[in-house]
Amino acid sequence: MNIAFIGLGNMGSPMAANLLEAGHDVCVFDLVEDSMTALEGQGARRGESAEAACRDADVIISMLPAGAHVRGLYLGVDDATPGLLDGLAHEPLLIDASTIAPEDTQRVGEAAAARGLSYLDAPVSGGIGGAKAGTLTFIVGGSEEGFARGKPVLEAMGKNIFHAGEVGAGQVAKICNNMLLGILMSGTAEALALGVKNGLDPAVLSGIMRQSSGGNWALDVYNPWPGVMEGSAASRDYQGGFLTDLMAKDLGLAWELALKARASVPMGSQARNLFALHSAQGSGQLDFSSIQWLYRAGE
Ligand code: NAD
Repeated sequence: MNIAFIGLGNMGSPMAANLLEAGHDVCVFDLVEDSMTALEGQGARRGESAEAACRDADVIISMLPAGAHVRGLYLGVDDATPGLLDGLAHEPLLIDASTIAPEDTQRVGEAAAARGLSYLDAPVSGGIGGAKAGTLTFIVGGSEEGFARGKPVLEAMGKNIFHAGEVGAGQVAKICNNMLLGILMSGTAEALALGVKNGLDPAVLSGIMRQSSGGNWALDVYNPWPGVMEGSAASRDYQGGFLTDLMAKDLGLAWELALKARASVPMGSQARNLFALHSAQGSGQLDFSSIQWLYRAGE
């Protein structure tokens, strides 16, 4: 298939590489030149602009930081910077894999539908490890017809492909999941710091908790204490990974969903405050497991 891929960051680059690996013809675009050059080296074509990358595409996939970027790409920023939807002369399937507010997703989805185009929100879970291994979980919102068209493409990048409901439902499910992840990661960091301050070895404590009732995904694959897990973000000075700023964004999205639905999210609010504070202290561009630092202050 002819696929346009927009947004080659920590997640987008390995996802596009897996599409190439599966034999798709991929044309890429990012604002960062080097990211495009790296993908060219793996067999991708380079688009001179997002519009150029999408011109012949059967499927357009975007993987951008936040809602403003996704709205800007599809709907445009102003008269001088029109959106993709205005320029498309054919009918590709649109898949946005970014994590953004369901309202933003629905706005883009409605504009696409008004032009006769199918749009899927398909946020992912599984982190950079999952993106590299092609084992991501895709949580998809959109029509049955759009889901059936998109599933074979998503299978080249992921292992579990869920249909959550109509456009926007993928984002709601993803935001619930990331609120839980924020709570689990900060809780795990808190428990590790408590043990270490009471004389325990963080690796020994991690091994015990993994096999006990506190076991969770952070302990299994994303241990926040440096040196406990080979290859983890913590073991490479929290460089790359899932940025603190992105987790703070997702917890903010959870807070907005809660306000709208009059739901109570006391644990999510606490996690949001912790990650916002951590970001404000200069750790926004570090992996989110660096929340461990908050508990090690004064060491
Ligand atoms: P990132 O910041 O590493 O990458 C975003 C990329 O988008 C950058 O390369 C940037 O240059 C590019 N970009 C921004 N505006 C653009 C535009 N107008 N046109 C073309 N390119 C543009 O972010 P990421 O970690 O890859 O995350 C992307 C999305 O996936 C976010 O919504 C995030 O919340 C979500 N997500 C990330 C992870 C993770 O572990 N990193 C996991 C699950 C979901």
